[in-house]
Amino acid sequence: MNIRVLGAHNCESESSRLISLLIDDIVAIDAGAITSTLTFEAQQKIKAILLTHQHYDHVRDIPAIAMNLFLRGAKITIYSIPEVHDVVTTHLLDDKIYPNFHQRPRHNPTLRFTIIEPHKAEPIEGYSVLAVPVNHSTPTVGYQVTSPDGKVVFYTGDTGPGLASCWRHVSPQLLIAEVTAPDRYKEEMAKSGHLSPSLLRQELTSFQEVNGYLPKVVIVHMNPALEKEIATEIAVVERELGGLITMGYEGMELKL
Ligand SMILES: [Zn+2]
Ligand SMILES: [Zn+2]
Repeated sequence: MNIRVLGAHNCESESSRLISLLIDDIVAIDAGAITSTLTFEAQQKIKAILLTHQHYDHVRDIPAIAMNLFLRGAKITIYSIPEVHDVVTTHLLDDKIYPNFHQRPRHNPTLRFTIIEPHKAEPIEGYSVLAVPVNHSTPTVGYQVTSPDGKVVFYTGDTGPGLASCWRHVSPQLLIAEVTAPDRYKEEMAKSGHLSPSLLRQELTSFQEVNGYLPKVVIVHMNPALEKEIATEIAVVERELGGLITMGYEGMELKL
């Protein structure tokens, strides 16, 4: 399994992209940096996009990739919980802000939406995909993706603390977790459904209690302006836990 970090941040600029992961060129998770980082040919190779939640930084490339695929006669399937489907089709593909590509072309639309049920493994493009609810300000699931040869990654999506029940359902070799801001914003992070380094530390300790091991961890969704501070604090967490925690970046390739 090859996982490419297309976007690793929560704010976009010339040097930072919004959240997107790409697995083996064919399954994307979240749609913050798909069209801005991939050629048209590479976009056309993607067969499925898994959406964690409805926030703009995670869904905003859906209309853009839909237009590109529509013009090339290609199709793609979007997987999400019902809440995300409703918001994306009502607000982004509403035929006002952009065409309703889930209804065009009429008999064979560019976008096919499939509702995903949490805690029920779904076969998607040869992978087994498990959606697991996490704790954010809006309904959100993390995704565990298992390849045919048994490689397992779990991406948390945006989440705050309290993941013990989530950890009971997953057992990844690689954990891609959000950490949005350093510990001086810890209270705000917990309140808004995000993690800081010490909140991540608590969640990793809970993971270890539940599963008996620590996976490799890659951090994403950092605020670019606070990234140095986050990295310094993450290094401390890494030393304390004796694990391997790496900061994600645009273009990072993770092999399992
Ligand atoms: Zn969010
Ligand atoms: Zn976000």
